[in-house]
Amino acid sequence: MPPMILKTDPGGRPIRWIDVRTAAAYLLRAEVAWSSTATAITLRGGISAWTGRQSRLDIPSILAVLGARSAHIDSTVPRLTNDALFLRDRYLCCYCGNHFADSRALLTRDHVMPLSRGGSDAWENVVTSCRSCNQKKDDRLVEECVLEMRYIPYTPSRAEAMILENRRILADQMDYLMQQVPRRDRARREAVA
Ligand SMILES: [Zn+2]
Repeated sequence: MPPMILKTDPGGRPIRWIDVRTAAAYLLRAEVAWSSTATAITLRGGISAWTGRQSRLDIPSILAVLGARSAHIDSTVPRLTNDALFLRDRYLCCYCGNHFADSRALLTRDHVMPLSRGGSDAWENVVTSCRSCNQKKDDRLVEECVLEMRYIPYTPSRAEAMILENRRILADQMDYLMQQVPRRDRARREAVA
């Protein structure tokens, strides 16, 4: 699987992941304001009849695209999926603190304020919980069981959500996005890492 390329606006704000073909089109149409120095992948094309050389195009890992705008995306809350939730919480059960990276099938989405009591299915009301803790908690509040929360749920920033979205993220893309994760969230990520 080829890597995904990080598309940003000319100011460097992340917009979305694009595939290599889309990135190549931006480069060929000269719509790139600037790019990272790191090459994500090199595309090879046909052999020139004139020079006998094979054409090649280096696709950088990050592309700032002219005219691209991220304003409408800044306000968007990242989509809540179990995969993204478990990644946000680094596969740690919020209640027993055990780590389930190697047994993700045992993880569930727990609603801190249960849905049956009017809790919402939103980032700030959900945590990663192993099946066993989820069963213990059932339809109760944390205060009503013998459980204790080990971290507080939060809505990931756009940059963090993009880190969560891309399983094949390259090291320099990760570094770039981490610099844009608010310090508060970064400390939390490190706390559960
Ligand atoms: Zn647990």
